[in-house]
Amino acid sequence: MRWTLRLGRVAGIPIQVHATFLLLVAWVAWIYWRIDPTIASVRDGVLFLLVVFGIVVIHELSHALTARAFGIGTTDITLLPIGGISRLERQPERPHQELLVALAGPAVNFVLAGVCLAVLLARGPLTPEALLPGQTFVADLLWVNMALGVFNLLPAFPMDGGRALRAGLSMVTTRTRATRVAAFLGKVMAAVFVIVGLMWSPVLALIGFFVWLAASAESATADMQRAMEGLAVRDAMIRDVHTVAPTDPLAGPVHLMLSSFQQDFPVLEGDRIVGMLPQEALLEGLVAHGHAGPVAAVMAREFQAARPDEDLFEVAGRLRGRARRCLPVVRDGALLGVVTIDNVAELLRVHAALETRPGGAMRVTRSLLPAGGEAPPAAPAPGGWSLSERGAPRPPG
Ligand SMILES: [Zn+2]
Repeated sequence: MRWTLRLGRVAGIPIQVHATFLLLVAWVAWIYWRIDPTIASVRDGVLFLLVVFGIVVIHELSHALTARAFGIGTTDITLLPIGGISRLERQPERPHQELLVALAGPAVNFVLAGVCLAVLLARGPLTPEALLPGQTFVADLLWVNMALGVFNLLPAFPMDGGRALRAGLSMVTTRTRATRVAAFLGKVMAAVFVIVGLMWSPVLALIGFFVWLAASAESATADMQRAMEGLAVRDAMIRDVHTVAPTDPLAGPVHLMLSSFQQDFPVLEGDRIVGMLPQEALLEGLVAHGHAGPVAAVMAREFQAARPDEDLFEVAGRLRGRARRCLPVVRDGALLGVVTIDNVAELLRVHAALETRPGGAMRVTRSLLPAGGEAPPAAPAPGGWSLSERGAPRPPG
C-alpha cells in the first residue's frame, strides 16, 4: 500500500497509518470546532479519535497474534479512516484456525468493554446515567469497544463476522462453496451499508464500498483456487519461448517483441538462465543505449523463478505486479519455459467455458492441457532469434 507512514513495531509487526487517515483527523477536528469553537474541545475530540484507533490497533494485533500461533505471519497493520487492516501472509486454511483468528479481534473488544464496566462499578453504584455515552471517558470507551465488537461480527465477509461464517460453513461444505455463500452475504451487507451510510454516515458508506470490493476479490480468488486445484506450474507453462543472450544488441529483443506476443525475455548464457529482460527495462535501455546497446546492460540479474512442480495457484499469486507478470520456469538453472499471468487467465477462461457448457460442469484436467515432458524450449538458435536476423533485425511487416 502506498502513501503510508510507519509508526513503529509492536510484537515485531510494523504498524503504519495511511495518509488519508489525516483527513479523518481534520474532519473530526472540524466537527468538534463546529459544536464548540475552542481549542480544548478540538483537542479532546482528536485525542478521543486517537484512543479509538489505539483500540483498533489492539483489535488488529489480536488477529495477528492468533494467526502467529498457527504459524502465519503478518506483513503489517495499516490504519485507514475506515478502520484497521492486518495483512496476513496467508489466510488460515483450516476452518477452526480461521474461526479463532476471526473471532480474536471482537473478543478483545468485549474483554476491554468488560474492563471498562469493572472500572465504572469500582467507582460507585452503576446507575443508567453513569453508563450513558458522553458522561465519562470510561463510559465512552465501554461503548466504543461494544460498537467495534458488534460491528465487526456482522456477517459482512471479509469482515470478521463474515470470515467466522465462512469458517463455520467450511466445516459442513467445501471451502469454495462456503466462500461463495459468505461473499454473497458480504455483498448484500455491503449494499445495506452503502444505502444506510448515504443517509446517515459517509464513513459507513465507504466501508460498504470496500466490503463490496473485498468480497468480490475474495470470491474471485476462491474460484481461481478451485479452477487450479491439482494443477502445477508445468500445466500452464508456455514452452515456445524466445530467449536472448547477454551479448545480443537490444535490437534483437525489440524485433522479437514486435513480431510475437512475447513481452519479457529470459536471458540465457549457454543453457543457463542469467537474467530476465522485461519490456519496461528494454524500453528504458533503448532510451539510454539505443538499439545497439547490449542486453547485459539492462537485464534484471535478480529475478524470481518458478519450479515446474510448484502449485499453480500459489505461483499465480506471485505473478501480480508489473515486474513479475512473467516468471521463468527453471529446473537446476536450466530454463524450461515461462509462466505468465495472461496464460493463467486463459486457463481460467477455458475452465469457465467448460463449466458453463450446457449438460454439466467440467473442470480443466491434465488431459486437456498441452502434453509434453519438461524438455527445455527448442531455441531456434543460440540466443533465441534466428541467425539470419542477428545483427540486422528487420522491422516486422
Ligand atoms: Zn477484526
